[in-house]
Amino acid sequence: MTVMASAQQITERIRELQATLPPNVTLVAVTKLLPVEVIRTAYAAGVRHFGESRVQEAIVKQTELQDYPDITWHLIGHLQTNKARKAVEHFQWIHSVDSLRLAERLNQVAAELGKRPHCCLQAKMLPDPPKMGFDLDDLNAALPVLNQLTHLDICGLMAIPPQNASPEEVQQVFTEAQCLADRISQSNFSHLKILHLSMGMSGDYPLALAAGATMIRLGTTLFGPRPDL
Ligand SMILES: *Cc1c(COP(=O)(O)O)cnc(C)c1O
Repeated sequence: MTVMASAQQITERIRELQATLPPNVTLVAVTKLLPVEVIRTAYAAGVRHFGESRVQEAIVKQTELQDYPDITWHLIGHLQTNKARKAVEHFQWIHSVDSLRLAERLNQVAAELGKRPHCCLQAKMLPDPPKMGFDLDDLNAALPVLNQLTHLDICGLMAIPPQNASPEEVQQVFTEAQCLADRISQSNFSHLKILHLSMGMSGDYPLALAAGATMIRLGTTLFGPRPDL
């Protein structure tokens, strides 16, 4: 049995957190596996950015939430290339651009749809075999091609520390993500200005904020444990 937070608890947690966040930091409330009522509650407390891991689940929720046109939807979970079109149709932000192949496919469908989604490159700052994301060597090698994908607004990095990372390693991941973002932005790739750092989840967001995160993705801290599937 998992115990979800009450609407009142959610509201209080959001208000407290928003009061402490620097003005340049966006709170992305992660509502994967949670019912739309939770989104309505968070919205009423002032949240406008919502993160979902699965395209199909998000589409169902968006259909139920058509009376909330000013929500910005963020895709934060791994995206299969065969769902790229739906992702571009339904999300303004895609944080989980984790391969060149996916980026190229997104660019193609964005061109076809006349859209230009905001994208974060998901980078593995430490080796992390089970996780999706660019290894640093692969990312460096991909930059010249990514720079050509002008139907994407590649403007962020998403960095997630490995599962069992020590606090020092978590710190290292966030600090190095900041350095990498600066290095890419200062390179000659005119379309790659990495202004956003999507880093920080419930367990590590204070460290991420200290390291310069501009988007934190919080689920459990706001809503309590997610129901198991
Ligand atoms: C689920 C998820 C989150 C939120 O995790 P919490 O620990 O519940 O805050 C953030 N980012 C990604 C990529 C996720 O999959």
